[in-house]
Amino acid sequence: MSPQSALDRLAAIVGAAHVITDPDTLTGYLTDWTGRWTGVADAVVRPRTCEEVAEVIAVCAADGISVCVQGGNTGLVGGSIPPAAGDSPTRLTIVLSTARMTDLDDVDVIGRSVGVAAGATVDAVDRHAARHGLRFGVDLAARESATAGGVVATNAGGIRMIRHGNTRSQVLGIEAVLADGRILRRWSPLIKDNVGYDLPGLLAGSEGTLAVITKVLFSLVTPPAATTVAVVAVDRVAAATELIAVAGRRGLVVEAAEIMTEAGIELVHAHGARRPVSEPAPFEFLIEVSGAGAVDEELFAAIEDIDGVLDAVAEPGPAPALWAARETHTEAIARDTSTPVVKLDVSVPIRSLPAAFDRLHAVPGDLGIGCRPILFGHVGDGNIHANFLDVPAADVHRVTEAVFSVIADLGGSISAEHGIGRAKSAWIGLGRGDVDLGVMRTLKTALDPQGLLNPGVIFG
Ligand SMILES: Cc1cc2nc3c(=O)[nH]c(=O)nc-3n(C[C@H](O)[C@H](O)[C@H](O)COP(=O)(O)OP(=O)(O)OC[C@H]3O[C@@H](n4cnc5c(N)ncnc54)[C@H](O)[C@@H]3O)c2cc1C
Repeated sequence: MSPQSALDRLAAIVGAAHVITDPDTLTGYLTDWTGRWTGVADAVVRPRTCEEVAEVIAVCAADGISVCVQGGNTGLVGGSIPPAAGDSPTRLTIVLSTARMTDLDDVDVIGRSVGVAAGATVDAVDRHAARHGLRFGVDLAARESATAGGVVATNAGGIRMIRHGNTRSQVLGIEAVLADGRILRRWSPLIKDNVGYDLPGLLAGSEGTLAVITKVLFSLVTPPAATTVAVVAVDRVAAATELIAVAGRRGLVVEAAEIMTEAGIELVHAHGARRPVSEPAPFEFLIEVSGAGAVDEELFAAIEDIDGVLDAVAEPGPAPALWAARETHTEAIARDTSTPVVKLDVSVPIRSLPAAFDRLHAVPGDLGIGCRPILFGHVGDGNIHANFLDVPAADVHRVTEAVFSVIADLGGSISAEHGIGRAKSAWIGLGRGDVDLGVMRTLKTALDPQGLLNPGVIFG
């Protein structure tokens, strides 16, 4: 089958306007959010329905065409980008974009769930739920672009993870197209349903390597009636985790817990965000809490119990001005770095957070590289987003190695919530043992025997 004939058949399925081959238009789909990863593809294909996806994938399976699935393209590990020139194992490669798959089913208010098409954004799902007094349990700063399919495929964490768990724990059911074009539908609103293997759970975190997710049945949560947001300036990391514990003992529910450093605050301030507290402090800890009774009084009492607090401010939630300092970190870093940022999302046992911050801050000095570390993260989950700005291209590997060696030494994970993608595939052996990896490869081969779905992602 000639390449043009395959693209003609795809056009017959989705409409010629939705098979994009114009090089200028293609460009926007071929570089990732960080600018570190650029791939090549023969076309971007934009189906509208699950049935169209199934027909597209059947053509790809018949003709041996690689498929890179792309949602909002906000992933930070290069997984949403096709292989680079010369790296594709097949003659033709397409990007399958879910941008047109945005339908939202009616919210089941009693069952607290909603079915949404894969390309619906996190923000659209949340606003849809909010019209019924409910909330999507997943939230992240990329909410206006990141999609339902993307957050499931990466098993995203985000700012509400400390309260509601990761994306996998919000998935009740899934519809997906397998690598041979068959449609898998595990669609049950039941909270309890233990019939066999957890296939939706398997697809969560599969990064487009096992199937194309076309629709998700999410459980929804009830938002707190009111929250209080505080930013607490502290002189040590442990003060943040102690405050989470004390707040819990005082009956407060921790809705979010985020740590920032002075370097990060200085950076976002230079890019227009307000400083939450006036005086610089080694760390600033944002905590959002809910509860019955006088929540802000309880929170301030908890803050007074902690050694090392230098200052604190609080506002009733949602307190967007306080949140802005945290939420603008990723964008400010991307704008400020002179080379594509080396972005390493890692986690460590909570007791090891202070050591992790110390040792990661020391990486540039230890290596003798003049790059800038900016660390921040979802501190209640032991999650640190380690960003290194201005890293010369020749030193990216050394910085990555040094960070992962610290994390391995502390018993942590090389991927807390962003996945493996292309960025970390060379190090996957640090996170999983041989038998574990063997089982993962067996699953990959069973579900995608030709290796057409996202080649190079996770397994390198
Ligand atoms: C400012 C900013 C803040 C962020 N904050 C967080 C955060 O707090 N927590 C967090 O976990 N992540 C965060 N991220 C990373 C990113 O937003 C998440 O990984 C998100 O889940 C990606 O969604 P997406 O739709 O953009 O997916 P994409 O980037 O398009 O794709 C990501 C991966 O999922 C696969 N994929 C996408 N859609 C499908 C589908 N329908 N079927 C199968 N596979 C699919 C892709 O092939 C790729 O491997 C942040 C990113 C930015 C830019």
